[in-house]
Amino acid sequence: MPEKIPYLDLPAQIRPLRKAIDAAIARNLDACSFCLGPDVVQFEQDFAKFCGAEHCIAFNSGTSALHIALLLLRVGPGDEVITTPYTFVATSWAISYVNARPVYVDIDDATFNLDPKRIEKAITPRTKVILPVHLYGHPVELDPILAIAKQHNLAVVEDSAQAHGAKYRGKRVGTFGASACFSFYPGKNLGAAGEGGALVTNNPEFAKRARALREHGSSVRYFHDEVGFNYRMEGMQGAVLGVKLPHLNTWTAGRQRVAQRYAELLSDTPLQLPTQASWAESVWHLYVVRHPQRDGLKQHLEANGVGCALHYPLPLHLQTCYANLGYQTGAFPVSEKAARECLSLPIYPELTDAQLQRVAAVIKEFFAK
Ligand SMILES: *Cc1c(COP(=O)(O)O)cnc(C)c1O
Repeated sequence: MPEKIPYLDLPAQIRPLRKAIDAAIARNLDACSFCLGPDVVQFEQDFAKFCGAEHCIAFNSGTSALHIALLLLRVGPGDEVITTPYTFVATSWAISYVNARPVYVDIDDATFNLDPKRIEKAITPRTKVILPVHLYGHPVELDPILAIAKQHNLAVVEDSAQAHGAKYRGKRVGTFGASACFSFYPGKNLGAAGEGGALVTNNPEFAKRARALREHGSSVRYFHDEVGFNYRMEGMQGAVLGVKLPHLNTWTAGRQRVAQRYAELLSDTPLQLPTQASWAESVWHLYVVRHPQRDGLKQHLEANGVGCALHYPLPLHLQTCYANLGYQTGAFPVSEKAARECLSLPIYPELTDAQLQRVAAVIKEFFAK
């Protein structure tokens, strides 16, 4: 049997950087700057610059950053946050953590992202925030969302956990709303050697309060202005991210090459391929194809040593943990259909053309049967 093609190949990413990462970790160990510290401060400055944002506050996860983003906007019990049911569950956790209510709005069939045309119908006097996700690395259509938010006096928070460096109308995501949240979970486009996240914002008051909330609600040690959290990024994660960030643009170009190659290789298959909107530059966190025989194709790929995955098999409004919200099957047909048909193929910059050709050949074999 030919060599397996893993769905994700983190060892291939680490291998060429191993010496630099070892040295960065050793420096951090020698300095004993384990919680925040100079490596994290340097990374915050570099990542803010990367996003074109004034401030970056590093967290111990993207989920923590999202939680703080809603606290900064004083979202609380009784408030509603409009968001997508077709995302990783952490987008909704932030809303639940502040005891607000997720109000789901169905997605756009072409981009899998929150559909701006459906937002206004979901606005009530309790709505405080619109929380769109740049899913799979493809930016959401921001202009209409920002216009609706302005008209109804709502804040916008970008869940950018999958979209480091993605561009909307030529500008990187992260500074379109009140704040934006990123994840550095190892499998993300920029990943730590463990957990990590960040919030970026142009608002100095938000930055100041976010720094305090992340560190037990204190800006002066042992004086606590409000109930806070231990959401600090570890120094070693800052050190590792500092080694990796300079490679991100090259990695993104590699992902874009893979996406383009898939588009060529799979054009004559029955698969529905992902597209890029005219105003979008995707960073291709995932390459998600669609077909009604998704389950059979998944089995066939796995049986032939090609890794694949589902993002996401069950929309959030149908998850057990959110049964209390009272949504029924059929509430969001576009999301529900996407959940039945989506299949994520391997996409990372290290994939060779031979590997991509093999993925395509295995897919074609399935449809030839
Ligand atoms: C990964 C992810 C998160 C959560 O980030 P963590 O760092 O894993 O806590 C939030 N939203 C989306 C869309 C994600 O993909």
